This record gives sequence, C-alpha cells and structure tokens, in this order.
Amino acid sequence: MTSPEEDGRATALAATASEIRACTRCPLHAGRTNAVPGEGPLDPPVFIVGEAPGREEDASGRPFVGAAGRILDKAFKDAGLRRQRVFITNVVKCRPPGNRAPKAEEAEACRPYLFAQIAAVRPKVIVTMGTTGLRSLLGPGHELKAVRSKVLALGETPVVATYHPAAVLYNRALEKDLRADLRRVARLVAPAKPRVRSQSPKKGKPSVTTVSSGGVVVDAEGRILLLKRADEEIWCLPKGTVEAGESLEKTAAREILEEAGLRVKLLRPLLTIHYGYYWPPKDVNYDKTVAYFLAEPVGGRLELEGGFDEGRWATKAQALRLLHWKNDKDVVVKAFEILASSPR
Ligand code: SF4
Repeated sequence: MTSPEEDGRATALAATASEIRACTRCPLHAGRTNAVPGEGPLDPPVFIVGEAPGREEDASGRPFVGAAGRILDKAFKDAGLRRQRVFITNVVKCRPPGNRAPKAEEAEACRPYLFAQIAAVRPKVIVTMGTTGLRSLLGPGHELKAVRSKVLALGETPVVATYHPAAVLYNRALEKDLRADLRRVARLVAPAKPRVRSQSPKKGKPSVTTVSSGGVVVDAEGRILLLKRADEEIWCLPKGTVEAGESLEKTAAREILEEAGLRVKLLRPLLTIHYGYYWPPKDVNYDKTVAYFLAEPVGGRLELEGGFDEGRWATKAQALRLLHWKNDKDVVVKAFEILASSPR
C-alpha cells in the first residue's frame, strides 16, 4: 500500500511524462517519433542520466533499448543491479537528428523535466553517463575524467559520473571502467554489511589444509597486476586453490584467467609461501601453502570476476603500498629482484 505522499510523487512523475510527450519547448520535438520521458520506480537506489534517445529509443519510446542499452544491461548485471529497480532517463527526451549531441539550449530547455523527475522519484544515488549528463546536472565546468573516481553531490544526493555506454561501442577498453563504476555505485546503495576479515588462527577450531597457486603478472611496462577483493576490501595477487589432478602451473594460469580475464605465459617459479589464518564465515583455521609464478599476459583483457571490484597495474612502489599481506609483498619484492637481474 502506498502512502498519500508516495501517491503525490507518482502523480507528479506521471504528469511530467505527459508534459514531455506533448512538449514543443525546443526544436527537437519536430523530428521525434516518440518522446522518451524515462522509466523506473519511485525511491530507486539508482537514477541514471544518459544523453539523448537514439533511433531505437525514439521508435519505442523507451530509454536505453538499443546497442548502448545492451551494454548497460550487462554492466547492471555485473554490478548486481536490477534494471527494474533503476530509474533511467536522459538529458533531452527527444532524439537529436543523426544522433548528434544535444545543443546547450536544448539541454537547458529540457532540464526542468530532469529535475522534476529527480524530485519526484528521490533516488539514493544519481549516475551521470557521459559528459552531457554530468554537465547538465552539475554545471558546465565539470570534466568527466577529473571527477570519475569521486562521489559528487546534487544537494544531498550523491552523484557518480561515468562513461556513456555508447562510448564503449567505440572504445571497448572503457567497458571495464563503466562496470567498475557501477559496482562502486552498487556498494554505495547496498545496506551496510559488516566487513569480513581473516584473523590469526584460533585454538580449538578445525583445521583445513589447502594448496593454492597464483602469479605475479608483469605487463610490458614492468608493472604488476593487483586485484582488490570485494569481501575484505584488500589488494592482493591473483591466486586460487589447486583442483584435483591440476599442476601448480596450470592452476596459476587458470586462476589468473578466471579472476582477471588474462591469458598468461608462466616465466618461472617465484616463491612458495606457508601461512595460517582463521576465516570467520566458515569458522575454521586454514593451513595454506601458495606457490607463486612470474607470468606475462599473452591474451585476453582485464575483466574481473565477481569476487573482485577493482584491478590495476602497479609499479613496485605502488604495489608495496597497496598490498595488504606481508606474504604478497615478499612475493612482489622477489619478482622485481628477478626482473632487475634478468629483464625479459
Ligand atoms: S527535448 Fe525536451 S525540451 Fe525539447 S521538445 Fe523534447 S521534451 Fe521538450
């Protein structure tokens, strides 16, 4: 059952959509098949501001249903966001001719609708996609690259700026950034969960022995790959448990591919580390051995599996600053010693 206050906001939202469909405030109305007001629920966790409807949106009257929409849907899925729970709209609600960017005066004419929608639905977080959305919402001085990693604000509502999914169609490398940004948004709107951290081994708890294998992946510029675990929020090296019948080498290559999307060639063994820890979610102590190999990428592209929310190429100094565990730092020091004495 909805409250009178929610009914009032739903009515205001529907009235804005009706006004948009009949709007002639700017010249874009002349070329439209359908105006595209946008869609989504009241009180959404996320409110997306794109740029303008394209051909398929103009034909259907719905936002983000074309090729860019398919990229957005994949990014939503990757971030664990449900499209039905997100409000999606654009800076201008009518398709510009030839899919050009909206002119400043068109965005200005349409802006009251955008703000009316935000006021009616009251999102937890607003996400602008592309420069037009960012500037229309927060002002002309904003540069997307400069603000992308920050959380801005519109009044008291946090604003995250990311790339437009259409930009990914022309530059596939941006997809991982778009996905990482939406994962960050998903964390912003997720109910607070206590952070899980491994602890020193506890007396009296059952012990599980495991063998893992992983790698220090070095790129052509001599930087190494670090991954940030989503559960513990710590930086680490790619690694995983050796499966039945698998060699340490095969596990290292498989884990790097699964966790980071990169196919690698193993160059040489690095170090084997032994350590123990207590893992609260399973209430057991782990007695762990991990073999590390030096590796270089030979294919694939950096694409993280769900347990990680960020990956980056780091210099030795950056890696030693970011890595959480001393064991990982020891492995990295060893890798850079070997690289210094016998460059690839
Ligand atoms: S783009 Fe916006 S302001 Fe221009 S005609 Fe369409 S609804 Fe009206």
